[in-house]
Amino acid sequence: MIPADTAEAQILDLVVPLDSRRDCETVTLLQAPGRILSESVISPTDFPHWDNSAMDGYAVRYDDIRLATTTTPVELSVIEEIPAGHPPAKTIESGQTARIFTGAMMPPGADAVVMQEETQRQGDLVQICAASHPRAFVRERGSYQRAGERLLSVGSVVTATEVAILAAVQRPQVDVYRQPRVAILSTGNELVSPEDTLQPGQIVDSNQYALAALVQQMGGIPLCQGIIPDRPEALKQAISTAIAEADMILSSGGVSVGDYDYVDQILSDLGATLQIRSVAVKPGKPLTVATFKGNSAPLMYFGLPGNPVSALVSFWRFVAPALRKLSGRGDNWSAPFVVARSRQDLKAGGKRETYLWGQLHTTPSGFEFSLSQGSHSSGNLINMAGTQALAVVPIGATEIAAGSTVRVLWVGAEVQQG
Ligand code: AMP
Ligand code: MG
Repeated sequence: MIPADTAEAQILDLVVPLDSRRDCETVTLLQAPGRILSESVISPTDFPHWDNSAMDGYAVRYDDIRLATTTTPVELSVIEEIPAGHPPAKTIESGQTARIFTGAMMPPGADAVVMQEETQRQGDLVQICAASHPRAFVRERGSYQRAGERLLSVGSVVTATEVAILAAVQRPQVDVYRQPRVAILSTGNELVSPEDTLQPGQIVDSNQYALAALVQQMGGIPLCQGIIPDRPEALKQAISTAIAEADMILSSGGVSVGDYDYVDQILSDLGATLQIRSVAVKPGKPLTVATFKGNSAPLMYFGLPGNPVSALVSFWRFVAPALRKLSGRGDNWSAPFVVARSRQDLKAGGKRETYLWGQLHTTPSGFEFSLSQGSHSSGNLINMAGTQALAVVPIGATEIAAGSTVRVLWVGAEVQQG
């Protein structure tokens, strides 16, 4: 049994990311959210593209108005109106100004903007009642970014902000990594599909669907291979098919020490190298990590424990980091931990690192963790709805008292408010 952190580091070392030149495709901006850039995006122009006004007001020559106050206003003649989207037609000479609106191009000759609230308009004249300062309210060309500089890097996850930037640089399409294909097998003679009639003693295959959902949430394509009986030949056949189709393989069940647990043996028969056999975590101790020699990169195989909670916890703790790295993400592959104050006492056996599920709350004084009610047995899936986080009770500890801080693995898409 190796510690969880060691297992994660070992797994991440084994993963070779998809290839940014070969494993990519072009998508539109509407298809891009959640995808990972396989190209760097260079700014084709300066940002802002030209000097423009940050306010509704008047474009002035600063020298004309630098002595203006409420009691000694400066009078200027308004020679033009410049709404956003219309280039100015005239040059501002001394004694002149142009009415200007937010985002509109600064006219030649002007070097500052006086906001509307500091002026009084009378026909073609305007009284400037405050001096502001040179370049006031002018967004200068190139002050955000210069042409030729890098805006976005290979490996960035595309979110709303990246989409906004891509739109602003007029990139309606962008190159992203293809989605990794992840084969999912459920092993067990006792398993039936959700649509089958349940006979006494049978168990419904929930892992297939849970794992497929997790793969999907992470931007992968699940290849569901169905239920594979505990027969060496059937298992060999299913794994061989998965090797041919997938970038990563997940199976659940069959990795313990029971009479029907054939996965490790079959992996060896098929030429895999067994990298990890068991990890000191609860739930999830029997975890098989193996690699098959691929054409260009090794193919990772995760033999997850069969118990529904163990399969999920093992995915969050060990498969998710591997999938992040495989997907082409530039960094932040590791399981995301935060420190939170526990709202309840957390109990554990002390022999293995123990994961307890619940919710993560944001409060003004930091994160808090609340434990799901009910049994934290690895067979009990039923109280896992709404799980956002797993509290970690370290090896050697049997209790973390309510009010103490605890390390928490964040597994939810959203953080609970309040
Ligand atoms: P195993 O590791 O194969 O001994 O499985 C451990 C426990 O998890 C057994 O009670 C199995 O019936 C159960 N189990 C295995 N695979 C699944 C699955 N795909 N969905 C739900 N439960 C499962
Ligand atoms: Mg089994």
